[in-house]
Amino acid sequence: MGSLAVLSLFGFPRSGSTVIGRVLGAYEGACFLGEVSNAWLAWSRERRCGCGARVQECPVWGRAMGSLDHDPAETLRLQASLRATASVTGLGQRRAYERYGQRLGELYRALADATGARVLVDSSKALPDARLIGRVPGVRACVVHLVRDPRAAVHSRSVTRRERLAQGRHPNPVAARLGSLVTAQDAGAWRATDHVGRRALRRARWGVEVGYEDWAANPRQRSEALASLIGCPVADGAGPFVGPATVALEPGHVVSGNRNRKASGATAIAVDERWRTAMGPVAQGLVLAIAGSRRARAAQGR
Ligand SMILES: [Zn+2]
Repeated sequence: MGSLAVLSLFGFPRSGSTVIGRVLGAYEGACFLGEVSNAWLAWSRERRCGCGARVQECPVWGRAMGSLDHDPAETLRLQASLRATASVTGLGQRRAYERYGQRLGELYRALADATGARVLVDSSKALPDARLIGRVPGVRACVVHLVRDPRAAVHSRSVTRRERLAQGRHPNPVAARLGSLVTAQDAGAWRATDHVGRRALRRARWGVEVGYEDWAANPRQRSEALASLIGCPVADGAGPFVGPATVALEPGHVVSGNRNRKASGATAIAVDERWRTAMGPVAQGLVLAIAGSRRARAAQGR
């Protein structure tokens, strides 16, 4: 194998990347780090790592980020300029992408030194990072493109949105109340993300599409097969599973990602079907019409 492998977990938000990342990162030789592209932001805001320490004091992030000789504030500005223009065009930005790719490569190597892992699992989802898959120097790119049923993903997002509205934490409360318009917008974003993920798959040295519902229906078998594919073969009984669908997860050094990244202890994995009753037939039909019913079947492994 030789060189460092970075497994990018790509997919629409609420598609299981945090739980799958934590499970894969628990196999011998692998380490899940969350959304690595947010490390510079976490560093500058002195956020806490999943281990509980401030990023600066974390034995993994503090050591890795502290060993870099580039200025975090400058990398943040570089990311901001790439993100601002990423959805419009990537043309004319080759040098900025090269510079950011070099910094990402330096960070990955420093993280490999700090963790001792040969496969780093990264759930960054921002568009500039997806474009860089397969182009970061010194890194062997692998991709798992997660496809969750768009109805389930859009519904899960709407639940989060309602919680934020109720708590007064939503950044745009007027737009968030526009019902089916928001559903259509989310379904369009699901489709766009799916397109970007499929392109990332083609660029990577190795990649596979994983249906979230298919994985969650048989998580141990699917995870062990994936671990072997990424170069972390599973010896008898090793790994995080304590039952066919129950994992025992330790708090890891996950720097950014969804709120489940810090949970620890025994966690049951199950297919979440609440959307089937909570989401009306019109909304379900709208999502399928926009996102594509063939892709919904792919999520189920059919
Ligand atoms: Zn940590």
